[in-house]
Amino acid sequence: METGLGSFIEQVLTRQGNDPGRLVQILRDVQAEYGHVAQRAIEILAERLGLPVGAVESTLDFYSFLTREPTGAYRILFSDNITDRMAGNQAIFDHMAKRLGVTRGVVSPDGLVSLDFTSCTGMCDQGPAILVNGMAITHMTLRRADQICELVRSRVPLVEWPSDFFRIEHNIRRADMLLSSDFMPGSALKAAIAMGRDAYLAEVKRSNLRGRGGAGFTTGVKWEAARNARGEARYIVCNADEGEPGTFKDRVLLQFYAERVFEGMALAGYVVGAKLGLVYLRGEYLYMRAQLEEKLAEFRAARLLGKSILGVEGFDFDIEIHMGAGAYICGEETALIESLEGKAGRPRIRPPFPVAIGYRGQPTVVNNVETLCKVTEVALHGGAWYEGYGTKQSTGTKILSVSGDVERPGIYEYPFGVRISQVLEDAGARNARAVQISGAAGQCLTSREFGRRIAFEDVPTAGSFMVFGDHRDMFEVARNFAHFFQHESCGFCTPCRVGTTIQAKIMDKIAAGHGTQYEMNELQHLREVMRTASHCGLGQTAGAAIADTIARFREDYEKRLARKDFEPAFDLDAALARAREITGRDDADSRLLSDA
Ligand code: SF4
Repeated sequence: METGLGSFIEQVLTRQGNDPGRLVQILRDVQAEYGHVAQRAIEILAERLGLPVGAVESTLDFYSFLTREPTGAYRILFSDNITDRMAGNQAIFDHMAKRLGVTRGVVSPDGLVSLDFTSCTGMCDQGPAILVNGMAITHMTLRRADQICELVRSRVPLVEWPSDFFRIEHNIRRADMLLSSDFMPGSALKAAIAMGRDAYLAEVKRSNLRGRGGAGFTTGVKWEAARNARGEARYIVCNADEGEPGTFKDRVLLQFYAERVFEGMALAGYVVGAKLGLVYLRGEYLYMRAQLEEKLAEFRAARLLGKSILGVEGFDFDIEIHMGAGAYICGEETALIESLEGKAGRPRIRPPFPVAIGYRGQPTVVNNVETLCKVTEVALHGGAWYEGYGTKQSTGTKILSVSGDVERPGIYEYPFGVRISQVLEDAGARNARAVQISGAAGQCLTSREFGRRIAFEDVPTAGSFMVFGDHRDMFEVARNFAHFFQHESCGFCTPCRVGTTIQAKIMDKIAAGHGTQYEMNELQHLREVMRTASHCGLGQTAGAAIADTIARFREDYEKRLARKDFEPAFDLDAALARAREITGRDDADSRLLSDA
């Protein structure tokens, strides 16, 4: 075992260039081979990479797809977004657990299988979804669960499972400027090269294109800042870690429009003077990695990547794919950079911003997948043309991931400024009670607000658009988000680490019928503490959905509240029962009367 483990790690290290900065990739490889990363593997890696054991452990323990303890030979993870819940994932999970004879989080005695939940896997338009050894399977039903149980019991290798299990649909329901246009690989690069670097950058600035990852920073300004920053090298990072619950548009862009994404990265590299681009692909999208590598090979063969791109002397640029390993916080750009450097994905203190000091300490542009697609449009048609779409402050189009209680879940592209009511009508939402925009960290809107517009100046969004019908309980929606944040808090700062935990516990207490006005006040208080004192956006927004649903759907909370003003979270009297039994006391003084 030791020899086998040692030689396997040597192969992995050689493949990864013996680079400690690739530790996440290295750990992923070990996990994939052995189903976990054993203590001995940690020690070998630390020694070979010249890292303290604690540094390897810190990275390993941070990511939910990496484990020290063995998982089943078939590791099955159920996506647990609220839309998966609404589609019945819990019943399928219970059915499968019963048929396989396992309980949640415990490996079967023969080591064959383990079953657990994971955060949203980005398949909300075709859930319930699962991951089996990292590969996505959608449209789960009891029948499909039975088939999977049979395959697992018969130990059929994953590559021999029915291919239709792994088919991921694009569900493009409305195409506009980007999704409807044909694209010839190389055409945007040729157009930009014909203009020259400065002129193309001027067009990007003219377009007023703003980042589609949520923050909405102006792309041209970001590129210019990175180009002008001091550094020995420059990097372009494609943030393909779309982990916001309910978001899946980047999945579709990467799977069906990868040429646009890669060419957008090359365009950014051209302007900024970068030689290397990195795609940070979320671990849940492992299924598309081979296809993306093939596409990169085609680009190299066509001289759209590599040395002297399209014959331009000095224009050298290539792209590598790095896989995430199950951490929502890595969607935050500085956490993502930490992860790319092989560390736990904890957000950095800003400033300095990545455009000045980013990946490996050098100027780095981090752009969202959709933003990178859009810069190809600007190269082909110019900034003025692009600016003509959308609104003054939100130019161009926005791609929405629509899921939940709609007849046609999927991808919808609109010029910015579209009303929420229009999206609901197009998607076939009947009697929508609420829409959660921009995921768990976003805003919850009621029917009174459906006249509002999707735009940075009104309702900004990274793309998630979850619809809840009039039969939905918005308390349960908010409770799902509370558990999501508790799970995904990176633990770096106290307000978020402790706040998200207490928040989830309070929501559970209310769900159990033990909540009072005191808990309602505590939720509001916690929200303020996390919003004002947390280090990054995760903690700052972790209480937003609860605050929104309390403000708009208070009745969903109040119907669960007990009448008393206060009920302790811990029943001390019940906890002392065993002590009374041992001491033989049961007099009044040995009891704590809760009403006293
Ligand atoms: Fe980590 Fe939360 Fe603090 Fe952000 S706010 S750094 S996620 S603990």
